[in-house]
Amino acid sequence: MLFYKFKFSLNNFYCKIVLRMKPKNKQMQINLAKSAGFCFGVKRALKIALDTAKLDKSVCMLGDIVHNEEVVKLITKSGIRKVKRLGRGKGKTLIIRAHGTCKKTLLKAKKLGYKVIDATCPMVKETHKIAKSAEKKGFRVIIIGDKNHDEVHGIAGQLGKKAIIIDGSEDTLLDNIAKIEKACVVVQSTQNLDKVEETMKIIRSKVKNVKFYNTICRPTTIKQDEIKKMPLDNEMMIIIGSRNSANTKRLFEISKRLNKKSYWIDSKNEIKKGWFKNVRSVGITAGASTPEPVIKAIINHIRNYKYLSR
Ligand code: SF4
Repeated sequence: MLFYKFKFSLNNFYCKIVLRMKPKNKQMQINLAKSAGFCFGVKRALKIALDTAKLDKSVCMLGDIVHNEEVVKLITKSGIRKVKRLGRGKGKTLIIRAHGTCKKTLLKAKKLGYKVIDATCPMVKETHKIAKSAEKKGFRVIIIGDKNHDEVHGIAGQLGKKAIIIDGSEDTLLDNIAKIEKACVVVQSTQNLDKVEETMKIIRSKVKNVKFYNTICRPTTIKQDEIKKMPLDNEMMIIIGSRNSANTKRLFEISKRLNKKSYWIDSKNEIKKGWFKNVRSVGITAGASTPEPVIKAIINHIRNYKYLSR
């Protein structure tokens, strides 16, 4: 006979779903990270978008709301159109995604006649404010983040001067920053703090006057705290999220460094039976844009492998 038991522990960050079979010593544990899935900013942006689509029949968005196919399907079903560039905006509504956008795009949209609904995450907005205010005070803005990510473009796009974008501590741009007199450093919300600290050491050694703002958001910090522990506590890790999700990628990288048996999947179809051989505990987490039904489907699927855990 088989029964499920849900345990919530404040000490261990995550929720334990114990798959227990009789006799009692034969069991596989599925430990789901408490922070798995949607962050506050994504939930908020999604709600804004869906609420807008209920009232307005001509809603569009520049690119995908978040980097997840299931969420994109939901958005499309609600009637929101994804556009590559802005056209005539009269009678149309444009939703700005959670990652935010640059000032130029906002102004252009308004000029073209769009009604703009801004769903930029308030934590990203805060980074915009910090960067703009620092620039006004004469600081050169440095952004630690992915050069090709929309959030980073959005931050850089708030400024009059070109921001310096640094991708990692080995970035060649680090050689050129010595000429800067005073710099203000902000960080893409989903960066890995350990790597950022390495980069900061180099920046500080080159620029005398540096103001550093750790703008990694709280949900990311919680996710990263968990992922530094879970791969050590579990025999195997599964990280759920789309291939183009930057924060999922980061979670996977940290997990893989700590536990070789770490797998990054987008859906249950990618799960392989062989992974579960002799595995008694599986840790699961999911990126900030992974919807709950996807996580649930994967957990239900994993339950099929219970016999291999002995
Ligand atoms: S990851 Fe952080 S900054 Fe980005 S949308 Fe979520 S809460 Fe906001």
